[in-house]
Amino acid sequence: MGFFEFIFAVFFGIVIFGLLYGIISQIANRRSRKAGPQVIRGKNVKCIACQNDTFRTKRVLLNTAGLTYLGMDWLNRSAEVLICEECGFLNWYMKN
Ligand SMILES: [Zn+2]
Repeated sequence: MGFFEFIFAVFFGIVIFGLLYGIISQIANRRSRKAGPQVIRGKNVKCIACQNDTFRTKRVLLNTAGLTYLGMDWLNRSAEVLICEECGFLNWYMKN
């Protein structure tokens, strides 16, 4: 294998990996995860609208125009959204 073929193969490997990662994370994001009480920094979270303490969670991408234009949404940062089971209020958290 020549040098340029090697570079080509590595490049394609990265592209394929990126596409697969994007597809898999999109499928995973579609499902809302675990319901029930949520703990952030050691404290039980309460809905700021109705004081309820049970939520569904969902991971949501914070899109930037540039990366979305390039079709590389999977590089964007994501946030954890707690959806109040009582009133549906969205409580957004950036973790880390
Ligand atoms: Zn609520």
